[in-house]
Amino acid sequence: MPEIGADPYVSARLEMVEKQLRSRGIRDERVLRAMARVPRHEFVPGESAATAYEDHPIGIAEGQTISQPFMVASMVEAAEIEPADVVLEVGAGSGYQAAVLAELAAEVFTIERFPALAASAQKLLAHLGYANIVVATGDGSEGLRQHAPYSAIVVAAASPSIPQTLVEQLRENGRLVIPVGGAEQQELQVVRRLPDGPRIERKYKCKFVPLVGKYGFSRS
Ligand code: SAH
Repeated sequence: MPEIGADPYVSARLEMVEKQLRSRGIRDERVLRAMARVPRHEFVPGESAATAYEDHPIGIAEGQTISQPFMVASMVEAAEIEPADVVLEVGAGSGYQAAVLAELAAEVFTIERFPALAASAQKLLAHLGYANIVVATGDGSEGLRQHAPYSAIVVAAASPSIPQTLVEQLRENGRLVIPVGGAEQQELQVVRRLPDGPRIERKYKCKFVPLVGKYGFSRS
């Protein structure tokens, strides 16, 4: 795990945690600590570093975005990650949310459809010292069957429906956190795999870039 050390953004990051996360209802202290540790400014394009801790998403390569800090904290909190958990993230993007997940879980697999994004996320995460993250390239709407089952799956892109294969790749009591809806607006849903079938909890409205793949949208 990276050490904070001489980081010019420590105070901006702590202010983000208090003003954008804690004050808006993020309660899990482990999630708040993870958000206080991960150097978000490293994951955005150089010219955006100074605005990395502001309350909005930021553009990255391939026309994609790194989500707003609150959205990352909220999805990660909803995934209820425990230290022994094996987690799958769909949509690695910059690698930022994978780093937050890796602060909380034993092992994180993250899959990205754009090879260039997967490669840069992989390089940065290794550089920052995250030894418990594996970055894969491919269509994450199909999950990542070879490493299933997962305690939690967090989908960082909008899906037209809940891909059944993702539910099947959860262990019992596993949680799938996924934005479901149309291309313009979605609802964040948490699907829990219970012995008598999946239970769906609907959270709030959100807007993500599309999940493009076999069980997602057919194009971006
Ligand atoms: N978690 C990222 C946010 C990335 S935005 C971060 O912290 O930076 C969503 C990402 O999902 C984009 O990079 C997009 O390319 C990717 N994506 C969309 N459809 C996908 C699919 N079917 N499989 C894997 N990645 C996908």
